[in-house]
Amino acid sequence: MADKRDYYEVLGVPKNATDADLKKAYRQLAKKYHPDANPGDAVAAEKFKEASEAYSVLSDPQKRQQYDQFGHAAFDGAAGGAGGFGGFDFSGADMGDIFGDIFGDFFGGGGRGRRNNGPMKGANLRASVRITFEEAVFGTEKELELNLKDTCEQCHGTGAKPGTSPVTCTKCGGKGQVTYTQQSIFGMVRNVQTCPDCNGTGTIIKEKCSHCYGTGYTQAKKKIQVSVPAGIDNGQSIRIRGKGEPGVNGGERGDLLVEVMVSQHPIFKRQEYNIFSTVPISFAQAALGGPLRIQTVDGEVEYDIKPGTQTDTKVRLKGKGVPSLRNRQVRGDHYVTLVVQVPTRMNEEQKEALRCYAEAMGEKSAEEPKKKRGFFK
Ligand SMILES: [Zn+2]
Ligand SMILES: [Zn+2]
Repeated sequence: MADKRDYYEVLGVPKNATDADLKKAYRQLAKKYHPDANPGDAVAAEKFKEASEAYSVLSDPQKRQQYDQFGHAAFDGAAGGAGGFGGFDFSGADMGDIFGDIFGDFFGGGGRGRRNNGPMKGANLRASVRITFEEAVFGTEKELELNLKDTCEQCHGTGAKPGTSPVTCTKCGGKGQVTYTQQSIFGMVRNVQTCPDCNGTGTIIKEKCSHCYGTGYTQAKKKIQVSVPAGIDNGQSIRIRGKGEPGVNGGERGDLLVEVMVSQHPIFKRQEYNIFSTVPISFAQAALGGPLRIQTVDGEVEYDIKPGTQTDTKVRLKGKGVPSLRNRQVRGDHYVTLVVQVPTRMNEEQKEALRCYAEAMGEKSAEEPKKKRGFFK
């Protein structure tokens, strides 16, 4: 990762830039360097990638904070490194959200405002899936049932009755947009609007296809397999190529973005690739030491408590954390906090033993309180 440019420098914003500043700067760069606008231009592609990476980090408050603190090193280390993220995965699924968010309104994606008749990629679909903590750690297969659109077989997506074809919209002349000028205090202002007659398609259907009611699409429930990779975290999305809306004029289908929601675990907490839990131990175990069974995502492991262990002692179980999304062989750690329990209910025998213990330790105050003694005498 040598010579990597500073993310703020890449976006051309100051360190204290607001989210809106970042978004604005990124939009400008993305528009300028987007591969669609610069076909075959490797330098532009590189710039686009660089800006996207910078934006994806700085637009995430947590990642931005890590970046401010550690610089690029925050994303270099393998999973489990101190403060590391286990590497920044640029091609990762969560980029879909950023793209949808940023590009949704100026790279089409929707279906409105189309002015050319070339192939257009279909819009992306969103869905979500809920998985357990363990499924997120080790990965899982899920099946989703979704209503998917397909291009109508009868009219091949035109929406016009077979044998007829859509006619060019007379209002906009097939452009899909209408321009009108308006007088304002600044002079004449040109306004461009999506054509209200054809909704931007440029064509009007006179006789609708009866099979799809003129929509050009048919819908059917379909089962879709989702491979959830090991290491995925709550809120991340999986991109399934070609399972979105059908393309237009022979364009490829959009993608399906499946957001993963991870249920909370009763004892494990997760932060990046590390797992945290709290394990109670008795006073005797803490003082004398001995074996302790600790629950991990891999099952129980035996841990030897050192004699004289204090409460809140942290134990690191190396490699018992969450696998890295990039390489499931690399795993975070499991941190266990040992908490010494003070018994709240004891029988007479136990109390007596504890008094003997206190006496042996030379504690005076542990005498059996005969009666409640008043403060004065
Ligand atoms: Zn049809
Ligand atoms: Zn029109």
